[in-house]
Amino acid sequence: MKADLLLHPTPAGLHCPIGSFYVDPVRPVDRALITHGHSDHARAGHRHVLATRQTLDIMKIRYGAGFCQQEQAIAFGDTVHIDGVAVSFHPAGHVLGSAQIAIEHAGTRIVVSGDYKRGDDQTCAGFEPVACDVFITEATFGLPVFHHPDPLRETAKLLHSIAQFPGRSHLVGAYALGKAQRVISLIRRSGYDRPIFLHGALTRLCDYYQEQGVDLGDLRPATIEGRKGPGFEGEIIIGPPSAFNDRWARRFTDPLIAFASGWMMVRQRAKQRGVELPLVISDHCDWPELKATISEIRPAEVWVTHGREEALVRWCELAGIAARPLHLVGYEDEGD
Ligand SMILES: [Zn+2]
Repeated sequence: MKADLLLHPTPAGLHCPIGSFYVDPVRPVDRALITHGHSDHARAGHRHVLATRQTLDIMKIRYGAGFCQQEQAIAFGDTVHIDGVAVSFHPAGHVLGSAQIAIEHAGTRIVVSGDYKRGDDQTCAGFEPVACDVFITEATFGLPVFHHPDPLRETAKLLHSIAQFPGRSHLVGAYALGKAQRVISLIRRSGYDRPIFLHGALTRLCDYYQEQGVDLGDLRPATIEGRKGPGFEGEIIIGPPSAFNDRWARRFTDPLIAFASGWMMVRQRAKQRGVELPLVISDHCDWPELKATISEIRPAEVWVTHGREEALVRWCELAGIAARPLHLVGYEDEGD
């Protein structure tokens, strides 16, 4: 069948009229399939939500138990049928629980990859390519200038800075879901086993990762109870970037501001945010990974959802793969 009849963009998000469901809808709907827990993809207020157990748990942590009326968990590789449409979830390698969603009917299979990456990440299941007719991809870093470095090289910079400036507290900005835990995991892999201090906004998600078997080591709240005046010299503190302009940040001695994001490749962005130590750590594909993934899956068609759509569409066409931008709105990833 024509792929457009199986799934097409609407103002509420990608809609499957045959199965009467939406993927990552940006408005409340009757039936939602959710790829992962970032707030631009996973919103509260749908009646029925189908997602991986971990994504459902993460939504519960973020929105409370009433985030939907009815939840249904699906394991990677399992298939459920919704009004004759076969739906299965497959690892996307983006954050804990993140999935690509394969949607199949009358011999046509579309894969919605959500957000994904191919680089090594020990905090979630790695991306698995799924053969399909239409591959729907994001393009957050879809320009040839984007090459993400080895993330362990980036955390090595942080540890080097601590050795160099033992009198300064090191504040690392990282988004609460996925990035914070990945940064901690990378720091641990670099051999750092001292306590790492957390802003309160990260505690529950870090606890959840640890419960799910992701070892993050000794994590402690970055509170000043029992301390006099500023402190945390020579320590690592992880917090959401928004907290750094708060009263919260004043408790740290001579803070050195670091920020972990794929956008830290862009010098101007680091400068604007007052970041002294940019750490280029991304949970999205860079340009070579986008090209490698499409070449590997070799779908008949590529649809590009959000980010820098035009360059990737052009590259697909030059590679002999039909491609088009979907111009979906409402996806500005919180976990870049
Ligand atoms: Zn995301």
